Amino acid sequence: MAGIYIHIPFCEQRCIYCDFFSSTKHSYIDRYIDALLCEAKLRPCNEEIHTIYMGGGTPSQLSVEQIERLVKGLKEIYDLTSVKEFTVEVNPDDVTIEYIAILKLLGVNRISMGIQSFIDDELKLINRRHDSQGAIDAVKSIKNAGIENISIDLIYGIPGQTVESWETSVNKAILMGVQHISAYNLSYETGTALWRMRENGKVHEVSDAQCIEMYNMLTVKLKEAGFEHYEISNFGLPGYHSQHNSAYWDGTPYIGLGASAHSYDGRCRGYNPSLLESYVNSIENGILPIEIEEIEWWEKYDETIMISLRTAKGVSLAEVKKEFGDIALNHLVKEAKKYLSRGELTEQNGYLVIPEEHYMISDGIIRDLMWED
Ligand code: SF4
Repeated sequence: MAGIYIHIPFCEQRCIYCDFFSSTKHSYIDRYIDALLCEAKLRPCNEEIHTIYMGGGTPSQLSVEQIERLVKGLKEIYDLTSVKEFTVEVNPDDVTIEYIAILKLLGVNRISMGIQSFIDDELKLINRRHDSQGAIDAVKSIKNAGIENISIDLIYGIPGQTVESWETSVNKAILMGVQHISAYNLSYETGTALWRMRENGKVHEVSDAQCIEMYNMLTVKLKEAGFEHYEISNFGLPGYHSQHNSAYWDGTPYIGLGASAHSYDGRCRGYNPSLLESYVNSIENGILPIEIEEIEWWEKYDETIMISLRTAKGVSLAEVKKEFGDIALNHLVKEAKKYLSRGELTEQNGYLVIPEEHYMISDGIIRDLMWED
């Protein structure tokens, strides 16, 4: 079983907080699609493909003709008949019923849309293209086009955001009737416009205490609305957890196509360059630009701890012993002791789990349980 990730690094404009690899050079799109299809041909997949995720950037910046060419091309290269979940990220401003209907015809059965907030001043500050009404209309169009698995992203901790304005956004998100919500705490990544604005005193961070209050409110409201909190930042209605991300978290291999995409084959990680020109030029010359790195056992252990403890399922002690041996298990059990005694970790059926009420301090717990801290 495997997944495919396809990176579409084009955005109409840059959001001030974003440090993902993306470009506003749309003139490159056609060459980029050619390069993606060439890369796919050079990277066969021998396993059954269960999930496809087209992320970005903004995949909905591709025209109907471009996305059709890409998906039909991929279908000629890979056997996609076993795909259970095919997600495409879209921007509310690009959504029309016609566009989504074409995606559906191509086999897409899940749409992920960054809404971030339902407050127009907050959207303007972070330089989103759409406004609140645009996001509401986009969700309606996606539903009208027949997609029944919709995920939306929200951000808390936006400068100027209050607990009350966040509550408005959460309430509106619930009213949207979507199946999945991801909510992230705004982070100030070095070099982003947001980071510079903070350095220049143009914006001020929302306090940790307020962010915790926002997060706690979110978890209570979404649970009341029937969502399962299955990962620190992810909530899904029963049966609607993200299959693609859950496979990442379970260590399923995946092929990452495109500039800046990562890959994993169960033993090694692969990294494509985060430069549009070098990616496209290299592929046009028939050379895969991927950098391969073999993962040391303790790096894999650290990843297992980091990823599993962010999920409601937690980390399996038996799996740690089987995969990494007694030395890793003993380290884990020893480091976990103090958190277990304080109730910040619990043991449930052979799994170590961070209780939901301690998710906000999970970074510190996870760091302590890793091999290298
Ligand atoms: S649309 Fe997404 S990828 Fe593009 S700049 Fe905004 S956050 Fe980044």
